[in-house]
Amino acid sequence: MKRIAVIGCGAYMDTGYGCPGEWRCLKAAALGEGEFEEPGQVTAFIKCQCPGRTVVPTVGMAIRLSEIKPDVIHLSSCLVNARPGCPYMAPEDMARILREATGIDVVLGTHDYH
Ligand code: SF4
Repeated sequence: MKRIAVIGCGAYMDTGYGCPGEWRCLKAAALGEGEFEEPGQVTAFIKCQCPGRTVVPTVGMAIRLSEIKPDVIHLSSCLVNARPGCPYMAPEDMARILREATGIDVVLGTHDYH
C-alpha cells in the first residue's frame, strides 16, 4: 500500500469552502478514487501557507519527524483547481519544486467529489 502525503491550500483550509482537510482527500486516498490509483495510506497532511515559501521545509520536517517517507505527494484538488488560482505559485511549479527537493513523485489533485 502506497504511503501518501497530501498538501492542501491553507487559504482554503482556513476558510472552509469545501476545503481540504475534512474528508474528501482522505476518502479518495482510502478507497483509491479520484487521482489515487489504488487505496493508500495518508501518512502526512500538510497545510501550505501563503505565500508558500514554507511548504518544502514543512514537507521535509513531516518526513523527518514521522520517520516515514511517502511514496507519492498529492497536491489537493482545492489547491490545484482553486479559482481564483494561487497568486504566488502555479500548482505545476509547486509540484516541480517539491519533486526536485524531495525526489518524490508529485500528483496534481486528489478527488473529484463535490
Ligand atoms: S501560497 Fe497559494 S497554495 Fe499556498 S496557501 Fe497560499 S494560496 Fe494556497
